[in-house]
Amino acid sequence: MSTTSVKRFIQVLCLCLGLLLPCGAAAGDALFQFSTIDALLAGLYDGRMTLEDIKYKGDFGLGTLDGLDGELVLLDGQAYHVAAGGRADIPADSSKTPFATVSFFEEDTILTLGKIMSLEGLNQAVEQALPTRNIFYAIRIDGRFPFVKARAIPRQNAPYAPLAQVVKEQVVVQFTGQGTLVGYYSPPFVKGVNVPGFHWHFLTSDRKGGGHVLDCAMDPATARLDALRSFTVRLPETKGFDSLDLSGDKGAELHAVEKDTPKKP
Ligand SMILES: [Zn+2]
Repeated sequence: MSTTSVKRFIQVLCLCLGLLLPCGAAAGDALFQFSTIDALLAGLYDGRMTLEDIKYKGDFGLGTLDGLDGELVLLDGQAYHVAAGGRADIPADSSKTPFATVSFFEEDTILTLGKIMSLEGLNQAVEQALPTRNIFYAIRIDGRFPFVKARAIPRQNAPYAPLAQVVKEQVVVQFTGQGTLVGYYSPPFVKGVNVPGFHWHFLTSDRKGGGHVLDCAMDPATARLDALRSFTVRLPETKGFDSLDLSGDKGAELHAVEKDTPKKP
C-alpha cells in the first residue's frame, strides 16, 4: 500500500474502532461496579479506581469519592462531585472512587409518570412498571421537582468509622426546580454487593448542585429505562479489602444509610 492508502486504512480503522467500542460496550447492556456496598458500609473509603478508568466502563452512574468525599454522579459522560452542602463541581479524571456503579446509558423503554409526591411514591410507580424485577435498570428522569431533599457526606479521614456512624455527619439540602435523577434499580439478590431496590442521585439542571436523594416530589415526567442483564464487579486489590470481615448481614445498616427518610408525624 502507498503511504496515502496506509493513512486512509488507519483512519478508517480508527473510525470503526471509535464507532464499535462504545457500541460494543453498550450492546452487552452491562452494569459495572467497583467494590461492594458492604465494603463501603464497613468503612473502606480509600479511592482505588480513577474516574478516567471508570469512564471506560460507563457514561452514566453514581458512587462516592476518595475518603467518602460527598457523592459522585456520572451523567452524559461527565463526572460530577457533590460536596457536603450540595455544591457540584467537576472532579479531576485522576480522582479516585472507593465505590461506583456505572453503565453506558442506552434507552430501552420509556415510562410516563404522573405527579409524584414522595420518593416512596416514585419508587412504587417505577417498580410497578418494570418488565421484570429480576434484572438491573439504569433510570434517567429529567424533570421539574417541587423539592428534592438530598444529602452528601463530608470527606472522612483515616482511620475510618463505619458508614452507619459517619452518615450522622451528612449535610442535607433541599433543591427546587429542573434537574435530573440518575438512578439504578437492582434486584433483591444483590444484597451485600449493591443496593437492592432503587438508588438515586440528583443534579440540578445547571449541574451546580445535587446529592444522594432522600426524598423528592416531581411534576409529571418521562423516566428513561435501560435494562441491564450483565453485571461485573471489580474488587479492590488491597490489604484493606482482603482483611475485611464481610460475613455478616448489613441489611439493616444499609437501610439506615441509604434509604432512611424519617417520617413526619
Ligand atoms: Zn448514593
